[in-house]
Amino acid sequence: MKPFIYARAGDTGEALSLGEMRGSAYLGGGTNLVDLMRETVAQHTTLVDVTGLSATIEEIADGGLLIGSAVRNTALAEHRLVRRRYPVLARAILAGASAQIRNMATVGGNLLQRTRCTYFYDTDGSSCNKRLTGSGCDAIEGFNRGHAILGASQTCVATHPSDMCVALAALDAIVHVQGSSGTRTVPFVDLHRLPGDHPEFDTVLETGELVTAIELPPLPLAENSTYRKVRDRASYAFALISVAAALEVDGGLIKDVRIALGGVAHKPWRAMKAEAVLRGGPATEQAFLDAATAELADAVPLRNNGFKIELAKRTLVAVLGDLSKAEA
Ligand SMILES: Cc1cc2nc3c(=O)[nH]c(=O)nc-3n(C[C@H](O)[C@H](O)[C@H](O)COP(=O)(O)OP(=O)(O)OC[C@H]3O[C@@H](n4cnc5c(N)ncnc54)[C@H](O)[C@@H]3O)c2cc1C
Ligand code: SF4
Repeated sequence: MKPFIYARAGDTGEALSLGEMRGSAYLGGGTNLVDLMRETVAQHTTLVDVTGLSATIEEIADGGLLIGSAVRNTALAEHRLVRRRYPVLARAILAGASAQIRNMATVGGNLLQRTRCTYFYDTDGSSCNKRLTGSGCDAIEGFNRGHAILGASQTCVATHPSDMCVALAALDAIVHVQGSSGTRTVPFVDLHRLPGDHPEFDTVLETGELVTAIELPPLPLAENSTYRKVRDRASYAFALISVAAALEVDGGLIKDVRIALGGVAHKPWRAMKAEAVLRGGPATEQAFLDAATAELADAVPLRNNGFKIELAKRTLVAVLGDLSKAEA
């Protein structure tokens, strides 16, 4: 690990002026960033600790929630309004990492964590366009069991690793961002990027921009929501496939639905095609299968991960089946 300066920001202005300096990075719980620096994948000269900023969860005027970016993952999963109104979010967080890591990790850091592609972490000889632009991608012809089946490109087939982000994509969350030119909001589904020709950029954030909060809009159907994660071990493993879904059924017909998939793409994958197939139609197993088939129609398997296509379909059908029974 290379030496770096540690600075603790007292307020947002101080964080921004330090964070915009060349070589700076914001530090949340450090559970991903410090690992990346140990492996010399990241080589920042200054770390700006932002855990003293915006660590509250507030109910806002429209009935939604505003979650400060420094809120720890455990605190968010345990919050009574999150558990009651957005159970998918609490379950997604609790499906991630370990209790110790969730106690350290922050909401802002979870959003900005990097892919777990092993070639990305291997600085001793692997080619990786995300780590070193233009160097190639060893995963495409390498061991790619955990890699993307949707939205990948010829330059990168990595998946986004976060569980929390899959739930936030399904919940129509909004990201509050602050930079030197002011504040802005980004719909969660637009925060993370597909790799295209520039896999080095994970998100649409500009250099030095700080995530200050996440807004959860009021979404009554989210009270009937859940998260299912399929992985190699029961704990302490990233998703092969995950599904976040919320469902409202009335008289056997689907009034409204939200679905996002994890483990399939460079970003949390909002399943718009499946939602369109389902909305207004019957809440039957055949309809769930039709929706899953429509969503996965464009999936492209790599050598080791073709099983993910069927796994994603089956997981989605099972989750929608569970939610429709809970509604009955
Ligand atoms: C062994 C292990 C297992 C894990 N398993 C899972 C899992 O199953 N599921 C899962 O979802 N996650 C898992 N994780 C990842 C873990 O959830 C992330 O490391 C954590 O969420 C990152 O949060 P942090 O606050 O520690 O971020 P940090 O490591 O501090 O930062 C991560 C990134 O976010 C940036 N950042 C931090 N705060 C802000 C901000 N406010 N604005 C802008 N940028 C910011 C940092 O500069 C850095 O680039 C695992 C991690 C480990 C080590
Ligand atoms: S999949 Fe992406 S992160 Fe992994 S080696 Fe290829 S370019 Fe790097």
